[in-house]
Amino acid sequence: MSIVHDYLDANQERFVAELFEYLQHASISTQSERKQELLACVEWLVAHCRSIGLTARAVETSGNPVVLAQTPYRPGKRPHFVLYGHYDVQPPDPLSEWVSPPFSPVIENGFIRARGASDNKGQHFAHLKALEAYLHTGTELPCDITIMIEGEEEVGSHSLPTFLAAHKAELACSALVISDTTIPAINLPGITCALRGLVSAEIHVIGPNRDLHSGIYGGAVENPAMVLCQLLARCRDEIGDVLIPSFNDTVRELSSEEQADLARLGGDETAFCQKLGVTGTLGLPTLNVPMKTTAKPTFEVNGLAAGYAGEGIKTIIPSSAVAKISMRLVADQHPKTAFNALENYLRSLCPANVRLEIAAGFLAAPYSLDSTNPYLSAAISALRVAFIIPVLNDHKSLSGSPRVDS
Ligand SMILES: [Zn+2]
Repeated sequence: MSIVHDYLDANQERFVAELFEYLQHASISTQSERKQELLACVEWLVAHCRSIGLTARAVETSGNPVVLAQTPYRPGKRPHFVLYGHYDVQPPDPLSEWVSPPFSPVIENGFIRARGASDNKGQHFAHLKALEAYLHTGTELPCDITIMIEGEEEVGSHSLPTFLAAHKAELACSALVISDTTIPAINLPGITCALRGLVSAEIHVIGPNRDLHSGIYGGAVENPAMVLCQLLARCRDEIGDVLIPSFNDTVRELSSEEQADLARLGGDETAFCQKLGVTGTLGLPTLNVPMKTTAKPTFEVNGLAAGYAGEGIKTIIPSSAVAKISMRLVADQHPKTAFNALENYLRSLCPANVRLEIAAGFLAAPYSLDSTNPYLSAAISALRVAFIIPVLNDHKSLSGSPRVDS
């Protein structure tokens, strides 16, 4: 392995220069007028993968191309892993907030500043350089690797499901590595083992066929805005727990190792509140912020609209009211089941003198990796080697040894 490490050390400067080239491409997927720049980025990426010794191609989709790169074919059967990344970036607006141009990378205090440096070009570029170190030193890889870099992550990955279905055989693998999350701190590397899922929905309460005068009709006609507020209020209690029947039934308890990891991420709750301008946090005082924001399901009102909220007063019973809501799910909740539980609950509560319409929006399943997964252990070992310090999820090497302050 030392030949690989030596190669990585000896070529650091060139790697950074190449990453800067990659970062100079304004591959903004949200703005269709930037399509040519996005395609130029794809062309650069394919050429770069080939220069490393990978077979690489840009695969057309109904949206932006997906770059597929593979380690060279070798006879024999080895485990196959897929690395995921995305070459598209968010628009850098407002430009006046940037202290240096977003597509002219600079290094400041050891950090690269450029649009896409940490989301997500930097991460998968590191994977590419690791592969280059193996391939250019003639070191045999213990596995086959496919790198899949898409160009629509920032706009919802609309083409990805069709792409995945069409390339199912080529992408069949032992494990998929997604380097598109953060680490807790530079001195506390860690692997994201779980992500919350999502259900979003729009709830309409429809009453009279027009806004009514509250002096003439109030007391005889139900108020859709009141009904909506009463329905929403019964979905969550004052400490944030979701009250929808059966919603919490499949929530998996945290393992003691997961609890230990989250406890280590405690941080400063007072600073957290100050930063956000709030006087305290929601939820049980026995839970720290990382536990509340990663291990608990939620019910949130994202938007609420009804009646008159302009200048002065207008004493009406609004004809309808609408709320947009989202629910974060944890393992092992299922988005469709959660949506059905919400719909059934609201229908059971809604009075018969108004009409209720509920439409599901975005549904995404939660994800949680078993802490005993052997691939996770392998990834932790790799991270430990790279950072030379203990890794958050690494319970074996941490027990008995001093822990890292985050
Ligand atoms: Zn990303």
